[in-house]
Amino acid sequence: MTDRRDFLRRSVVAGVGAAAGLATSRELSGAPAVLSTRVAPTAIASANGLEAVELALGRVADGRSTLNAVVEGVNIVERDPDDMSVGYGGLPNLDGVVQLDSSVMHGPSRGAGAVACLEGVKTPSRVAVDVMRHTDHVLLVGKGAQRFAKSMGHPIENLLTERARRRWIEWRASMSDSDDYLAPEESGMPTSAALEDGGAAEAAVASELLDSHDGVRPGGTINCNVVDAKGDLSGVTTTSGLAWKVPGRVGDSPIVGAGLYVDNDVGACGSTGRGEAVIKTCGSHTVVELMRSGMSPTDACLEALRRIVAFTVEPRLTNRDGLPNFNVNYYAVSKSGEYGAAAIWSGARFAVCIDGESRREDTAYLFERAD
Ligand code: ASP
Repeated sequence: MTDRRDFLRRSVVAGVGAAAGLATSRELSGAPAVLSTRVAPTAIASANGLEAVELALGRVADGRSTLNAVVEGVNIVERDPDDMSVGYGGLPNLDGVVQLDSSVMHGPSRGAGAVACLEGVKTPSRVAVDVMRHTDHVLLVGKGAQRFAKSMGHPIENLLTERARRRWIEWRASMSDSDDYLAPEESGMPTSAALEDGGAAEAAVASELLDSHDGVRPGGTINCNVVDAKGDLSGVTTTSGLAWKVPGRVGDSPIVGAGLYVDNDVGACGSTGRGEAVIKTCGSHTVVELMRSGMSPTDACLEALRRIVAFTVEPRLTNRDGLPNFNVNYYAVSKSGEYGAAAIWSGARFAVCIDGESRREDTAYLFERAD
């Protein structure tokens, strides 16, 4: 048996050796040589991450680690009860239970941590960081993930807001004519929202625009990646996943290489949209590998999306033209601070912060939406 203290001592020596051998491993992996010039710190995120990129870049400017920067950035959205696609307030699964997925990667240490189907913790990204820092594992799921979170001091709370519960009840009632759940139209009763506030809240819920996976069910996620002035990178992806999902379903967000990938020699990428399509094509890893071979972040995202199109052959997932009837978005930043984002369908946006200025930009796309 290896003595644990012995092991730790050797790890330190091995760590130094690994650092010294970095150039060699880079040569072996075929990564483009990166000159150690100062890069413009840049943060990129999905469209719901405008405040996140701003905060992340501020943290990096204050000299904080890139990982803390992105995680604190997405915590804003995770804690926001009004964002129904992430963390607290996220739309629940089939049983009305909010199950969250998240992953983090820290470029300089090559660290990764993730949680899936985690219930009761508003900030799953922080639990993912704890998995990375305090265990020898990468991914914890379900009850085990919750027990671990509790042991690390994360409060276990009810994540289902009244607003999200109302959406779930409406969805449940609209599923079938042959069960006993009634939609308000069928019962002739005013909706709960109308009873509460004269309909204003219901109108707000109805007009809420969440990205749709399959034209029917809402999804949504936040991904945020940052590069600092030294060229160090980190990324995080966090979500409540596909609304009304089968309990236990895991999307792309907590899967390293799918919903997130960071290689400190090359760049970082994350995704939002139909997770099943991203998992099947190892999406974010593909984008980073394409960047390694010299493609710009935008071109790499577009090429990885073409692979999704080629992989989508099921009639239930294609439109009349044989194209995917869902969307996927990739957000990427390179070690030199070049950034880009792309989606299968036009009309998507992303958030970016560079030189202290944050804004939303249109993403590149493969196909123009008809409407
Ligand atoms: N990618 C997420 C998932 O599949 C959800 C989304 O971004 O819409 O779980």
